[in-house]
Amino acid sequence: MPAQTARFINGDSVPIGKILCIGRNYVDHIHELGNEVPSAPVIFMKPASSVIYDGGCIVIPSYSGDCHHEAELAVLIGTRGKDIPEDRALAHVAGYGVAIDLTLRDVQAELKKKGLPWDIAKGFDTACPLSAFVPASAVSDPQKLQIHLSVNDQERQNGSTGLMIHPVAQIISHLSTIFTLEQGDLILTGTPAGVGPIVSCDRVVAEIPGVGRLGVTVR
Ligand code: MG
Repeated sequence: MPAQTARFINGDSVPIGKILCIGRNYVDHIHELGNEVPSAPVIFMKPASSVIYDGGCIVIPSYSGDCHHEAELAVLIGTRGKDIPEDRALAHVAGYGVAIDLTLRDVQAELKKKGLPWDIAKGFDTACPLSAFVPASAVSDPQKLQIHLSVNDQERQNGSTGLMIHPVAQIISHLSTIFTLEQGDLILTGTPAGVGPIVSCDRVVAEIPGVGRLGVTVR
């Protein structure tokens, strides 16, 4: 099976490396889940095999009864870097897109309670719907974007990336002190408020005007 790729709107593509995800990066979303504001970014990963594309189908695993949508700005890394200074961070970005960080909330709650890793709540097949990417040059300021998500044409999420606790440049810089960032790596930058459940036959559309749009259905 070919590796999952990040696709640009002009048709170019690059194999996806690691998918690094930031949790609890918007205060209003932290409050809706009753979590504490973290002093450092919460980091977890999804495998590239969890990626599906526009028009794809979400399959909720049988071990969960509560799958939530989290619409997020996705950042595609274009050039390799380690210990990247914040003021050079955006130069490592190849493109921006829209992702949905699907989360099995019931499974995640159990794992959190036991202090166990979140992988099976966050990394299952189809857990990372991903739009096509616009080149980084098309986005003048990644902190001035609006993230929308609707389910069956009803708006659920509508939040500005200006509300991120850790902005994109800071996230890239911080992650690069832990992981060497490489071409094809993706960063999911956290979700604004309004997360909620999706069920069979729901049509989920996530959009960031100027960046991308993504429509998927739940099997
Ligand atoms: Mg998330």
